[in-house]
Amino acid sequence: TTRTRASAQPLENTDELISSVETFIFDCDGVIWKGDKLIDGVPETLDMLRSKGKRLVFVTNNSTKSRKQYGKKFETLGLNVGEEEIFASSFAAAAYLKSIDFPKDKKVYVIGEDGILKELELAGFQYLGGPEDGGKKIELKPGFLMEHDEEVGAVVVGFDRYFNYYKVQYGTLCIRENPGCLFIATNRDAVTHLTDAQEWAGGGSMVGAICGSTQREPLVVGKPSTFMMDYLADKFGILKSQICMVGDRLDTDILFGQNGGCKTLLVLSGVTTLSMLQSPSNSIQPDFYTNKISDFLAPKAA
Ligand code: PLP
Ligand code: CA
Repeated sequence: TTRTRASAQPLENTDELISSVETFIFDCDGVIWKGDKLIDGVPETLDMLRSKGKRLVFVTNNSTKSRKQYGKKFETLGLNVGEEEIFASSFAAAAYLKSIDFPKDKKVYVIGEDGILKELELAGFQYLGGPEDGGKKIELKPGFLMEHDEEVGAVVVGFDRYFNYYKVQYGTLCIRENPGCLFIATNRDAVTHLTDAQEWAGGGSMVGAICGSTQREPLVVGKPSTFMMDYLADKFGILKSQICMVGDRLDTDILFGQNGGCKTLLVLSGVTTLSMLQSPSNSIQPDFYTNKISDFLAPKAA
């Protein structure tokens, strides 16, 4: 059966939306900042929501930083956000392994950058791999066989600007040959806006390489999977109907909110334009849309 949703409505009554929920989950890139640049009016908007007693949570699919490193980024941008309010997909990977009691005597092979390593370390897991792994051309002499660690019980794949063939082969060997080895993806974003000049291949490209070689599908811990939503609802004791998910991307943020049964607000300050939202080929409709979160500060006259 197909479920049809009403088309998204322009956000007109901001006060009504604000008073209808107790928690706002904000996506980061495209909502709070664009790359390293703060989006206009964000500090004032967050202050206003806090003064009304709202819980604020920040979720990002970008796994290159740990929550501690994001804490510094928020601080640098002049935002009053604590580490414990930040949930990056790097943190989600470690939180997932904790949630399933992944054995501390097993190891995690990481294809990804520093954020994932930092979170695994903090959670007390043994890991190998990371950005520096491999990197040289593999000379395939007759009989050459790549060794791999049989203690690896999970392969975590995230965005990796140092991605190479060694990592693909190593991760593939672990998943294929270690009994019960998990395949976990931080996120599957097709593209990211690393620079404002073009779209860049996202975390989904590294994950896709491992899908291609293993013919397995990963367990995704970032948006739009429900893991983080369930985790947050459980951790803070919040009802999902009391959450508004705010994001700039339909297939990650808005779907994440809808999969969780939350209210959803699309902001047009990131990757999605009004014509993309209203295109007949788009089937993901948030409850509301608005230009940017600082629209919360200027309620339109009734
Ligand atoms: N992954 C990478 C590597 C990114 O650079 C970005 C955005 O900058 C994202 C994912 C998406 O981040 P968010 O979920 O905060 O929009
Ligand atoms: Ca975003």
